[in-house]
Amino acid sequence: MNPFYREYSDYLAERFEGKVQKITIDTGAVCPNRDGTLGHGGCIYCSNDAFSPGRHRGESVTAQIEQGKAFFARKYPAMRYLAYFQSHTATHAAAGTFMSQVLEAAEVRDVAGIIVGTRPDCMPRELLDMLSDFNRRNMPLMIEYGMETSSNSTLARINRCHTHECTVDAVERTHKAGIDCGVHLIFGLPGEDRSVMLESVDAVNRLPVSFVKFHQMQIVCGTALARSVAEGREAAHCFNLDDYIDFCCTVIGKLRHDIAIDRFTAQCPASMLIAPKWGIKNYEFTAKLHRRLRELSSSRM
Ligand code: SF4
Repeated sequence: MNPFYREYSDYLAERFEGKVQKITIDTGAVCPNRDGTLGHGGCIYCSNDAFSPGRHRGESVTAQIEQGKAFFARKYPAMRYLAYFQSHTATHAAAGTFMSQVLEAAEVRDVAGIIVGTRPDCMPRELLDMLSDFNRRNMPLMIEYGMETSSNSTLARINRCHTHECTVDAVERTHKAGIDCGVHLIFGLPGEDRSVMLESVDAVNRLPVSFVKFHQMQIVCGTALARSVAEGREAAHCFNLDDYIDFCCTVIGKLRHDIAIDRFTAQCPASMLIAPKWGIKNYEFTAKLHRRLRELSSSRM
């Protein structure tokens, strides 16, 4: 048991028997911030090639899950799976179309639950009602919303094309619908200092969420942010590793204790990453973070 914060694995262990593993699914849906519904350029830091390479585009939901199972079952034959609709904006499709993809995933043997990752402005009432019904009757379903920050001026600066009020509304509606949900924050967004980032953590504490994901701002090749930084039009705050570890310790001290933390870092392919180049794997980051938490705890004794 982690004495410093609630781990996402503990949250999953309370909801599912045995070991579960996420399998990411790409439904082929596009993002409303790219297809012209909201805009064409997308969020300034976004490169879907970096964060969810579209290698499965065109393959059925079942085929993608079976490929994932074949990979993980070699090591853990008793593993069960969570179908993770994460790539692009899977809920930016007709509600019936997305539900048929969820139902297809649920039919695959050894799938124990569903996770839907999406934008807060892409959860219409009709779809939420369907997902709520599915969650009650079929199997556990969880929703993750990309909140990114609670600052509306930052949301405008990074071209998210939604407000913080939109996130609050989506999370509250989801909670009322009986669905467990979580949010995603990015630390180091352009224009944000530590106090603004910690205001976002306070805002998360006020939401009825069960879990949260954090990651450091990354400048990725081919993005609008990379171009703006190269041309001197934008300054992104890229944490160095030690500063980020210390910042995460502060966040842990501030976050509501019942909220499980899924992760602290993201890793895009090294060939696409401009900054920050920490050169460590996620598990190495976690080990360093835990060491720092122990040091801080013993220095307070
Ligand atoms: S980060 Fe998400 S919401 Fe923003 S452009 Fe990329 S896919 Fe769309």
